[in-house]
Amino acid sequence: MYDKSRMRQQECGVTVWFTGLSGAGKTTICQFVEKELRIQGYRVEVLDGDAVRQNLCKGLGFSKEDRVENIRRIGFVAQLLARNNVIVLVSAISPYRQIREEVRQITPFFIEVYVNASLEVCEQRDVKGLYKKARAGEIKHFTGIDDPYEIPLCPEVECKTNEESVAQSATKVLKKLEELGYIVARMNDL
Ligand code: ADP
Repeated sequence: MYDKSRMRQQECGVTVWFTGLSGAGKTTICQFVEKELRIQGYRVEVLDGDAVRQNLCKGLGFSKEDRVENIRRIGFVAQLLARNNVIVLVSAISPYRQIREEVRQITPFFIEVYVNASLEVCEQRDVKGLYKKARAGEIKHFTGIDDPYEIPLCPEVECKTNEESVAQSATKVLKKLEELGYIVARMNDL
């Protein structure tokens, strides 16, 4: 359990939506940001695309229709949490611009983070071995290979993870949260 004495009086929740290719760094940055926010005493929840597909979105596949439904459900839960003053970190490929924009429209406080690494870099990393399988044709509808990824046009934050360290990327997100008044500014960088 959390130490309540360290809990801040959080006035306003927010949804921070990390989008990008598989292996771009969404989960890694989310974890870093989550840890830092918890240290600072904020209420935080992470909705990770992979984990969500085991429960809330169980049974959904990777057709366009199912991907849209996946994002809609995550967006719905994020909105519920955020309106109860939780900082919600969503990590999901969320390849389609239109549904990301739809979620933005229905979510009062919303920050989009484009986790940007080229397909080449993501494929080289191949954190989960999925690109190899997709190239071998063992996985169909894999984003970036045989399924589209529509890059965000106006993200609040862009993390270029093939140029930045994890700490630098996470700091960009934390700075934006400070700048927009969701968290209290701190003197030092990470
Ligand atoms: P995703 O959640 O987008 O599928 P992961 O976070 O699981 O991606 O994997 C990203 C990989 O890239 C990790 O191995 C991580 O260590 C590495 N990486 C290198 N630089 C960065 C960075 N600046 N931010 C995030 N991840 C990075």
